[in-house]
Amino acid sequence: MIFIFSALSTQYSALSINTQHLTLIMSYAHRITGKKKIKLKNIDPDDDGGLTREQTEAKTAKLCAELTELQTLLYAAGDQSVLIVLQGRDTSGKDGTIRVVMGPLNSLGCNVASFKVPTERELAHDFLWRVHQQTPGKGEITIFNRSHYEDVLVVRVHNFAPKPVWKARYNHINNFEKLLVDANTIVLKFYLHISKKEQEERLLEREQDTTKAWKLSVGDWKERELWDDYTDAYEDAINKCSTKDAPWFVVPANKKWFRNLAVAQAIVDALKPYKKEWLKKLDGMGAQELVAIQEFRQQKKEK
Ligand code: AMP
Ligand code: MG
Repeated sequence: MIFIFSALSTQYSALSINTQHLTLIMSYAHRITGKKKIKLKNIDPDDDGGLTREQTEAKTAKLCAELTELQTLLYAAGDQSVLIVLQGRDTSGKDGTIRVVMGPLNSLGCNVASFKVPTERELAHDFLWRVHQQTPGKGEITIFNRSHYEDVLVVRVHNFAPKPVWKARYNHINNFEKLLVDANTIVLKFYLHISKKEQEERLLEREQDTTKAWKLSVGDWKERELWDDYTDAYEDAINKCSTKDAPWFVVPANKKWFRNLAVAQAIVDALKPYKKEWLKKLDGMGAQELVAIQEFRQQKKEK
């Protein structure tokens, strides 16, 4: 079998060829590992991988089912944790991604932590204090709906902290995420990439839809005025804090259905390599308990 890896802008694809099969494994999100600096303007938010909505939704449903299976193994094996960070501008689809991609997960081992404007007590601590408390335990998946990255995004754009303070945070974040990785946490960070025009349409749509009106906020229109400052801040966060073990994924997110596929695919791809290890551990655990049960029965018989 021959593997050919080809670079398609920052995206990559693996072409696996043998005489009987020709498969193209495409990653839909752009995985950033920090080796090459990215510019958001070079990534098309409208990208849909050349798929129709129907094809995409069918693929996503399959991946969500696979993810649920993987979660069961992760939970039972209890060796790894998974941290999924969702970031993006207002209306970029953080809530929708949680509903569609993470919704089918077993809530027994899955938590969502949303990070809002810090409370007085939170502000009285270092910026990672409130975040570290919410990280996943062994066997758990935690989704961060916004995260510690707000402290180099909104804080930077609005000068809520002096420049030397927020500048030092990229290093703090890298060290923090390394600590999590060293404690067996699989760290996956997603930037949901929408265009300015798409955001306008979504904000206007909220004004017309009573079921979405609760999300209306004049703040969103004000933040929109700072679009370019946020672009700079996101690019720095992504470029400075992408590592092999805690990568950022830039997800084309103008099409909600494609966004869901891209996130689901990236998570499944990250967890799948552990599947064998988890199954082996479960086999071992099962065998050990079977011996204990047999011994218990034997002892009862002998009494
Ligand atoms: P939402 O995501 O609509 O619930 O809004 C949460 C708000 O909290 C957003 O405007 C964030 O920018 C803001 N936020 C989150 N974390 C921080 C932070 N560390 N400092 C200041 N504002 C924050
Ligand atoms: Mg909002």
